[in-house]
Amino acid sequence: MKKSVIDRLVKKAIALGIECQVIESDGIHAFAIRCEEGTHLALEESGVKILQREIKRRKRPCRHENAEHVGYTGGYHFYAGEVWDDIREEWYCPQCGRYLSQKQIARLKQRLYEKTTVTEEPPF
Ligand SMILES: [Zn+2]
Repeated sequence: MKKSVIDRLVKKAIALGIECQVIESDGIHAFAIRCEEGTHLALEESGVKILQREIKRRKRPCRHENAEHVGYTGGYHFYAGEVWDDIREEWYCPQCGRYLSQKQIARLKQRLYEKTTVTEEPPF
């Protein structure tokens, strides 16, 4: 593979926050890649594959799979003889470092609910 192609791939990966380094020896390229899966030390062909897969994964929008309920915002209000609240749940996604919107929270809860209600096979 051409050095320029590899350089472009590495540049793209670094821009996406993937730690990687190219090691060149006698015209053979090897990659040192650190990503969420762990650290890879790979020769050209498999290194390129790992990088491409990782780049693809990072480009995908975060599904906030590991988001957690971290607290509440808002409170109770009293106005014109009526009590109301604007209490909202706060969910934080450690994967992308963002707080989820109410819409995203609702969607995530729906998904979690679907996941835990898998119908069991009857034992006979
Ligand atoms: Zn996320």
